[in-house]
Amino acid sequence: LSEENRAQLVIQTAFPGDLLLSIPLLKQIRILYPKNPIVLVCRPGLGEFFLTAGLVDELAEMNKRNKAEFKAEMTKLKKRQWARIFCPHQSFRSALMVRSLKVHEFSVGFAHWWNFFAFSKRMKKPLELPDALRQLSLLCRTNASFKKKWESEIVNRGFENTDSQRDFNYAQTPTIPDWASMRAARKDLEVVSGGRPIFIAPGSVWPTKRWTEEGFAELAKTLVKKGHQVVFVGSAGESAICERLATQSGTVSVAGKTTLAGLIDLFRSGQALVANDSGAMHAASVAGLPCVAVFGPTVLKFGFRPWQNQAVVAQVELACRPCATHGGQRCPIKTHACMTAVQANHLEKLLMGLISKS
Ligand code: SF4
Repeated sequence: LSEENRAQLVIQTAFPGDLLLSIPLLKQIRILYPKNPIVLVCRPGLGEFFLTAGLVDELAEMNKRNKAEFKAEMTKLKKRQWARIFCPHQSFRSALMVRSLKVHEFSVGFAHWWNFFAFSKRMKKPLELPDALRQLSLLCRTNASFKKKWESEIVNRGFENTDSQRDFNYAQTPTIPDWASMRAARKDLEVVSGGRPIFIAPGSVWPTKRWTEEGFAELAKTLVKKGHQVVFVGSAGESAICERLATQSGTVSVAGKTTLAGLIDLFRSGQALVANDSGAMHAASVAGLPCVAVFGPTVLKFGFRPWQNQAVVAQVELACRPCATHGGQRCPIKTHACMTAVQANHLEKLLMGLISKS
């Protein structure tokens, strides 16, 4: 197999939100190494969007929980010779995967004391930057011209994570350069225009990261009264709460009826999204949909801000914040004040401000 025909592998088996935050990295790999097709290793069911958007050329969806399926997929990957391997995913298992594959030019990942054996190039993760940029920073170890661009357009340019715990409007921060953004168009689909609804995603994998059901209901009712079309979105597991909220507010729910790719396409037709700190928030950044996100147990300093400029984060300052890296099942101090203190009328004001400027 000639050097030009060998594919390059990107390993990102994280949750959907983290996978979406890999988009700037994927876009740059395409530009820096255009001759080699890109194969994406991701969780089952998440790859379709990346294919249809032309971000990657092939998928290797791997179910880590099913040993037989995982082994079969690994056997296929081991049979091939890879031009390069990029591994933004940081688990020990991903490092072992990289170690077991044949790679010609280099393999690159984030440096930890326990993964020295896996990569030929390792990068110190720039924790002070948002996660989309952290993932992208891997290319500073592989390409000198990219490193130059990084140093002139990203380093010390105001992209560092804020430690503000008050409402935060990203319109007041530097504009994200297009080459580092999450925006990704679908190649084979014209954007459907029509009602331009406001989407609401009330779910999150973690209960403490969910704003209150009463709050979402009140917000949806107010928006309907003002003549907006409201659509609830979420995963199949969130369809019960979305249906309940849709019934209460006289709106509709499409929760559980869309794939990740379908959700992003749906978002392209909307006015804005109201969400928790969740995968839906990151999907909005891909579609270019303005977003109001409610943060509670997690804080912006962690680096998982909505990676777009038309975004406002609603949050209240509390001594107990943050209480968990990802969120938790229960509020440790049993008040859940980080969410109950956020009022529907306040969110509506932030949302209207965002819409008026978009
Ligand atoms: S401890 Fe504080 S930040 Fe954590 S869930 Fe409870 S109220 Fe929210």
